[in-house]
Amino acid sequence: MSNETQKVALVTGASRGIGAEIARRLAADGFAVAINYANSAAEAEKLVAELRAGGARVTAIQADVAQPEQVRELFVQCEQQLGSLDILVNNAGIMQTMPLVDTSDEVFERTFAVNVQGVFGCLREATKRMNDGGRIISLSTSALALKMPGYAVYNASKAAVEAMTQVLAKELRGRQITVNAVAPGPVETELFLDGKTVEMVQRLAHMSPLERLGQPDDIAAVVSFLASAQGGWVNGQILRANGGIA
Ligand code: NDP
Repeated sequence: MSNETQKVALVTGASRGIGAEIARRLAADGFAVAINYANSAAEAEKLVAELRAGGARVTAIQADVAQPEQVRELFVQCEQQLGSLDILVNNAGIMQTMPLVDTSDEVFERTFAVNVQGVFGCLREATKRMNDGGRIISLSTSALALKMPGYAVYNASKAAVEAMTQVLAKELRGRQITVNAVAPGPVETELFLDGKTVEMVQRLAHMSPLERLGQPDDIAAVVSFLASAQGGWVNGQILRANGGIA
């Protein structure tokens, strides 16, 4: 495929976990892929090397999505290195769970800076720059539906992501751009495993009637569908991909 006809995808937070698997999948689907990361340069470059070895056109771009100027530069770099944008996946996110009463202002502010302002900044930039016919997919969480203790601030941040998704889908009328969110249940990544005992992980794995944790490729497959021509009639939706947990 020539560089002129190849579609371009940007995946935020793609150095590891779900984002890395989404980048792999979109590269396999034939997209040129920008792999954004904040701190994990070595992991991002390793993924770039892996995908280039398989023939994909990919690049790694450092940017903290919580910083609006860095978000603007991320989109400029993506355009300069790969071409104008067709697919945005807002995957970068952080989670610290604790009872609301014990949550510091710093945890609240950082969670909202990355999960809400980060997504907002990328949505705004994509809206200005993305090609007509594009796709925007943001990561929410099925934790929002489960309402478990400890998740107040994280869930609040993802509720904001869902709210922006559904409004932006309508604001983009006429441009043939779809805007959706994917809400995974527990997925076996650092974000999920951090601070949990083996028993807690087992308990959460068995909440799904499919009796296992989600894997990053379970989520990448859903993102791939939404990014594809087949997913084109799904718009303004929150797609829960969680093995039936909620
Ligand atoms: P991980 O912690 O495994 O990976 C997070 C990724 O985001 C890393 O690549 C990290 O890069 C990047 N990142 C973090 N902060 C920033 C930032 N400020 N700017 C740019 N990149 C950043 O998380 P998961 O893969 O588990 O989660 C991915 C998404 O899926 C998140 O939005 C999460 O909320 C959501 N989700 C996850 C679930 C799960 O069970 N795992 C369930 C439901 C939703 P670096 O190391 O360079 O900072």
